[in-house]
Amino acid sequence: AHGVAGLLAAAASRWPDRTAITETGTGATLTWRELDEAAHAQARRLVSSGVAPGDPVVLRLPTSADFAVALFAVLRAGAIAVPLSPQAPAPELERLLEHCGAKRVVQRDDAELPEGIAGLPPRSDEAGDPVDLGRSGEDIAVISYTSGTTGPPRGVLLSHRALLANLDQLSQVDGVTEHDDRVLVSIPLFHVYGLGPGLLLATAVGATLVLSERFEARRTLEDCAEHRVTAITGVPAMYNEFASLDHEELGRGLATVKRLTSGAAPLHPKVLAALREATGLDVYEGYGLTECAPVVTSTLVTGYPKPGSVGRPLPGIELRLVESDGSADDLPLDPEEPDDVFEAGGSTGLVSVRGANLFSGYWPDGAHGPDAEGWFRTGDVGYLDSDGDLHLVDRANDLIIVNGFNVFPHEVEEVISQLPGVAEAAVVGVVDERSGEAVKAVVVPAEGAALSEQQVVDQCTAHLAGYKVPHTVEFAETLPHSATGKLRRLKLR
Ligand code: ATP
Repeated sequence: AHGVAGLLAAAASRWPDRTAITETGTGATLTWRELDEAAHAQARRLVSSGVAPGDPVVLRLPTSADFAVALFAVLRAGAIAVPLSPQAPAPELERLLEHCGAKRVVQRDDAELPEGIAGLPPRSDEAGDPVDLGRSGEDIAVISYTSGTTGPPRGVLLSHRALLANLDQLSQVDGVTEHDDRVLVSIPLFHVYGLGPGLLLATAVGATLVLSERFEARRTLEDCAEHRVTAITGVPAMYNEFASLDHEELGRGLATVKRLTSGAAPLHPKVLAALREATGLDVYEGYGLTECAPVVTSTLVTGYPKPGSVGRPLPGIELRLVESDGSADDLPLDPEEPDDVFEAGGSTGLVSVRGANLFSGYWPDGAHGPDAEGWFRTGDVGYLDSDGDLHLVDRANDLIIVNGFNVFPHEVEEVISQLPGVAEAAVVGVVDERSGEAVKAVVVPAEGAALSEQQVVDQCTAHLAGYKVPHTVEFAETLPHSATGKLRRLKLR
């Protein structure tokens, strides 16, 4: 057993001369054999410089072949990969290095290293034996830091077992990455969405990865045409931009594409409809979390996209909705028949997940992992419709409580977004002496649009119950987003 690194060994032996990676920026390509050899060489450098099994090693690299080489090298050295944003400012990097205890960073030569931290040792010419210090199963492969949209970043411990299980669950669904695919990935590989369903899934099936360091709608469309891309593993922010382009241009760029998938944040039904109209392509939406390594549900499971729904659990993943009173012993919505909850439509609850893909708790001690029965309570609130498809309502942490009434920010944001002249809207709770919390809206006007506070309030009054109407409205030029395009409400607050 070779754990996650075994995926590369298998690809190199089954498809040695097939292209593993093409970089859109540099045009560089690597076959599976070349990637395998590069990872062995780098693993030797790590081992000879003293990296030992179980050591955390930070990867600070963009979406590129370098990232893939470094990931497999670290795993072959038996170490734990800790992928971080190459764009993280120095203080954040230092905080995370201290948090995970890593003493070594693999990064581009021109990037500065924090004090007391080693980089990769210089290349040596001598060839050596392949390195595979064979960690697998419950050994930790990756510490993945969550995007920090709801609080300080947490280091999620992902074992070889969890990552491989999610690839196995994914590959049982029709329409996910296949051997013949050329998959465009321009989302960050340091985020588990790019890492698992992007890089690792392509390695498992021997598809070709077309890696792009930066998404830029028009350039990316040209890349898709040039590299005859057949599938895109993306996020809503990308599809939003695609949808705003000229239909003909979009159709030309996506001419060889057969499948679009989206995850990490909600995809607007308007965007789904616009892309279908322009290209005839559907966007299949999935839902996942770092703690689930990462995919939980997808509309690919049923084979049809459904606006507003994130689909059904992958084979091998159980899902139930629990009622939360804030205490540890949450109940399934129907305690008599927990399985029926999945069929019943209607009730809203906290999404709970069980499966072999779950994490092993948080760094350093594995605390707050799945409970004794293997369930993990996500922070997401959702409901199942009458077909049994999951709809996410919001995050429990984002809930605003006004005079004891619950306000889900997403609902208010939707109403404000429908007002002409609104580019984007965010709603947060702010402390209020009288009502406990009050609703505050931050609105980004579309270019050239003139909007007043009163128009926003009137729009909400016309469509929402009184307690949901924003108490204050502020205008801003932009809103803070994470690397995968999630609104960072904490920062906003
Ligand atoms: P932190 O926990 O530090 O706030 P994070 O939760 O953003 O970071 P991730 O694991 O990247 O860390 O994000 C998982 C969350 O993303 C889910 O809990 C869910 O709220 C949201 N999400 C993922 N996919 C979708 C989707 N298709 N639609 C809506 N929300 C989604």
